[in-house]
Amino acid sequence: MTNDHVDARLAPCRFCGRRPLPGQYRAPGPHGPICPDCLEAGLLLVRDRQPRRSLGGSALRFSSDPQEKACEFCGRRERRTFFGFHRPLRRMNTTEGDAVICADCLDRSGELINQAVRRRSSH
Ligand SMILES: [Zn+2]
Ligand SMILES: [Zn+2]
Repeated sequence: MTNDHVDARLAPCRFCGRRPLPGQYRAPGPHGPICPDCLEAGLLLVRDRQPRRSLGGSALRFSSDPQEKACEFCGRRERRTFFGFHRPLRRMNTTEGDAVICADCLDRSGELINQAVRRRSSH
């Protein structure tokens, strides 16, 4: 599912444009990774809906509009419930990098990073 090849390890974060710190684990995505700082900002942003700046200086903003760009990690614009209803899918985007990630992918990426950090600290 991921294309975590050699280039992707050094690719800039999709949301802040910064390169990884030595040994830093970032969650891979189809167009590039998201760093832990942007992940944390994203998890707060999809809750409080307030625009903010990434540590790289790019503008991060909230969207749940089904007309706007789909999440680049899962390709969805909205949630579909068991009964077929459409529900808004909360997303963070940045106009600079043209990157979008949804609340579900933020949760999943956060879990990936937590697991990686736990594995490393158990050595
Ligand atoms: Zn970042
Ligand atoms: Zn997603």
